[in-house]
Amino acid sequence: MPQPDILVIGGGPAGLSTALHLVQDAPHLTSRILILEKARYPRSKLCAGGLVLDAEVILQRLGLDVSEVPHVDADNIHFDFESKGLNLHIPRRHALRIIRRDEFDNWLAEKARERGIEIREDVTVRNMIPDGAGVTVETSQGRMRANIVIGADGSNGVARRCIFPNAPAHTARLLEILTPTRPHRPSDTTPNFSENGGGREGGAYFDFFPIPDNIAGYVWDFPTQINGEAMRCWGIYDTNLLATENRPQLKDPLAKEMSRFGFNLDDYEIKGHPIRWFSPRNQMSVPRVLLVGDTAGADPLFGEGISIALGYGVIAAREIEDALQRNDFSFYKYKLRVLKSALGQTLIVRWFIASVIYALKWRWFQILLWRVMKPVVAFAGWLFVVNWGKRL
Ligand SMILES: Cc1cc2nc3c(=O)[nH]c(=O)nc-3n(C[C@H](O)[C@H](O)[C@H](O)COP(=O)(O)OP(=O)(O)OC[C@H]3O[C@@H](n4cnc5c(N)ncnc54)[C@H](O)[C@@H]3O)c2cc1C
Repeated sequence: MPQPDILVIGGGPAGLSTALHLVQDAPHLTSRILILEKARYPRSKLCAGGLVLDAEVILQRLGLDVSEVPHVDADNIHFDFESKGLNLHIPRRHALRIIRRDEFDNWLAEKARERGIEIREDVTVRNMIPDGAGVTVETSQGRMRANIVIGADGSNGVARRCIFPNAPAHTARLLEILTPTRPHRPSDTTPNFSENGGGREGGAYFDFFPIPDNIAGYVWDFPTQINGEAMRCWGIYDTNLLATENRPQLKDPLAKEMSRFGFNLDDYEIKGHPIRWFSPRNQMSVPRVLLVGDTAGADPLFGEGISIALGYGVIAAREIEDALQRNDFSFYKYKLRVLKSALGQTLIVRWFIASVIYALKWRWFQILLWRVMKPVVAFAGWLFVVNWGKRL
């Protein structure tokens, strides 16, 4: 195998964004970048596929138009507690664009290839050993040396484990289910069941009702599509922040929510995957190796990670360009660079909010937050949680 200068482990949004930004900022580096991807595109990735505005902003700045990818637009996002709460609507545009990850990641990889970036599929990285002069990477297709390695292999990846074998992992647990828009075996005795989806068509729903039962997260219900057919994506997110308390089985609140709309959870395939989330204590680099995306830490509040992964790519690319210019690959200021950026600021705010709102698990507090204080919550969210992409 030829020896790449800049090796990216993992061709998801974080790895592809890093490579695309490097090529945009420093085109002379194009032939020096290699992405290793263990799967073959279009590969499946468990994800609800909700793209927030910030993801679109970052892609636009790369000259990419995500509307080329099959999608469903949700006009409203509802943040509810027990079915009532805050409704977020952005005038003259969609509030959330929902893509399928096999299609989105395949599209992004195609764009990277069109810009001359080499992606080698079906190559699994097994181990990585940095030393003073470079990094030795062991893969399913042999050993290689690289000058710089970017660990972008997701929440279960090897890159982080190789460089930080004993670091604490903050991981959320998630379950996801895809259903048609109407149940297979509708039960018309269900209060919210109706032929058109219980009045929920066109909106994306988050309901935080499981928090008082020590599930530090929410249940979601998004519109989506598969091969052009309208579907619904249901799921549950638990940060695990209340893991020391007694909790019901994760699928119980999800089954409860689905049954309100006439769906029986047991009629559908259920899949699970963790998300490694950001904490200010997460380590993000060692000399010659940078982590991006879930490997470095996704959003703890909602488990939102696509825009975050794209954002890490912007910062990692700048860090690598500076390192090459200075011929200094210590990357000792990379984490500071992340924390000081608009991405880092939103991650810190989200980590703080998650630590507070999931710890204050009383029903009355959640009602106060999502129903009574909703103008304050909406304003604070708009100011501190979203809209960071433009400032990156
Ligand atoms: C159930 C669920 C629902 C979600 N819903 C949303 C949502 O609606 N909106 C949102 O923004 N985020 C969502 N997320 C989070 C989002 O999926 C992740 O944050 C995002 O995929 C992170 O991107 P990444 O590039 O860091 O990692 P990944 O997307 O995981 O990409 C990692 C890549 O590395 C490859 N890889 C892994 N190991 C190796 C190896 N050893 N060698 C070579 N290649 C390797 C993988 O095949 C993959 O292509 C959800 C996550 C889950 C689990």
